[in-house]
Amino acid sequence: MNKVSRQESKERNTSSKVVLVRCDSYDLTEIRTALRRGMELLGGIEQFVASGEQILLKPNLLSARLPAENVTTHPNLVRVVAELCQEEGIRLSLGDSSSRDSWRLVYTRTGMLLLAEELGIALADFETEVPVSFPKGKQNKRFVLARGVVEVDGIISLPKLKTHHLTRLTAAIKNQFGCIPGILKPEFHVRLPGVEEFSKMLVDLNRCLQPRLFILDAIEAMEGNGPGSGERYPMHLIAISSDPVALDSAVCRLLNLSPDLVRTNFYGEQFGLGWMQAERIELLGDDPKYFLAPKFKIERAPAMPFNLAWRYRLLKNWISAKPVIEASLCIKCGECVEQCPVAPKALRWGKSGKQQPPQYDYQSCIRCYCCQEVCRHRAIRVKIPIIRSILNWFYKNLWMRL
Ligand code: SF4
Ligand code: SF4
Repeated sequence: MNKVSRQESKERNTSSKVVLVRCDSYDLTEIRTALRRGMELLGGIEQFVASGEQILLKPNLLSARLPAENVTTHPNLVRVVAELCQEEGIRLSLGDSSSRDSWRLVYTRTGMLLLAEELGIALADFETEVPVSFPKGKQNKRFVLARGVVEVDGIISLPKLKTHHLTRLTAAIKNQFGCIPGILKPEFHVRLPGVEEFSKMLVDLNRCLQPRLFILDAIEAMEGNGPGSGERYPMHLIAISSDPVALDSAVCRLLNLSPDLVRTNFYGEQFGLGWMQAERIELLGDDPKYFLAPKFKIERAPAMPFNLAWRYRLLKNWISAKPVIEASLCIKCGECVEQCPVAPKALRWGKSGKQQPPQYDYQSCIRCYCCQEVCRHRAIRVKIPIIRSILNWFYKNLWMRL
């Protein structure tokens, strides 16, 4: 674990640096040039890790998908970060936990196994559970983490920029959710079904883990129906910072998304994890205008009014976005049913069994979107009810102008 707490570092620093560097493709030479240039602007990788330390590289390995599917952090980016660290004499391990697929399948398909073998990187243990107490937690004072996370000196987080229906965005802060071993992750959705509580938990998790550095793969981001079934968005960006709140907030501004609508940013600043306000963030590197993506497909409506829906069960189905299955794309594999964390399941087989796609019980569905996240056949989309669309319009056009 890091020796310097993020809380202390925030007390020392009145601002955070975020580096934006252009990288047009996953070509290794291009990534090497971009990343070295970006790291030099922060004083080099040696500012964050020291020779002889054991450092975990933590990419986003949501599931066993090929790099070309654009769901996971690209192995070439991980490779270049590993090269930089090894030049400094860092001992490396690599890992993430998928809540669905076996680690061997995930590491093989995502290209991480080959990379680890070629560079002599150890695969971290993400299956053994280690309880960790975190008395400074504002919401969570205890986590169960993967052994591979706990037994290192520090973490370099390598997120992928994608949309996410619960948190809107998965980038620097959300990436650490993978440090919780696979099968324990869905439990958090049951315990913390609202986005406010879930976001506070993610911020506490980051305060507990304190990754040293965040290097975001937005060379090709994912828009729309992320994090597993969205569309490719070539953003040509690598973003680097030691402050995950500043990094995610800077990216939100590039996407024309108010940073406080991503609640991990809001609570991240409140809890002292980092800075959300633009005046506290120093942008370095290439001109941000290269990366502006105002039409990036992402939810830009406010979250707060809809959270009220959880207090009024009757309103829930009218105003909260709901997952729906497109029957023509569903192959009836049942992975979504297995993934549903509530008991009894809110997604189950109907009377005709596996002859028909599974059916939702929207009254018991907690809108965690784990089913949508897990469907690799892009058969589950998240639909916004008409009443919510009307409320969005009023909020955007009237309320915001008051
Ligand atoms: S919706 Fe997707 S995960 Fe669920 S049964 Fe159909 S194809 Fe499988
Ligand atoms: S049906 Fe889907 S969104 Fe609803 S609780 Fe189950 S996994 Fe979550």
